[in-house]
Amino acid sequence: MGSRSIRDGKGHRAYRRLQAALKRRTKAQSLPCGYGSPSGWGCGEQIDTDLPHTHRLSFTADHDQALANGGRLVGQILIPMHKSCNSRKSDNAVAEIWAAT
Ligand SMILES: [Zn+2]
Repeated sequence: MGSRSIRDGKGHRAYRRLQAALKRRTKAQSLPCGYGSPSGWGCGEQIDTDLPHTHRLSFTADHDQALANGGRLVGQILIPMHKSCNSRKSDNAVAEIWAAT
């Protein structure tokens, strides 16, 4: 912990900005769940970005590298995913997930 905490204000704000930008792009280009993931995550179905964040098929953005594996919050590839697909993928990863609302 300490100065490199993933929860420090700067990193969090930058992440929220990236996540919001990805949500806009997902909507504009109808990007599928898991789009651009080198790890092949996601179901490949389209994501309705207008669903409320409590919906199981709502939009979430996740990094393609688990924070637990030494990943850094900013500068990673963000992947659009359904909330349900994201939580399935995160079963054994300690990932911070914020709803992009
Ligand atoms: Zn999905």
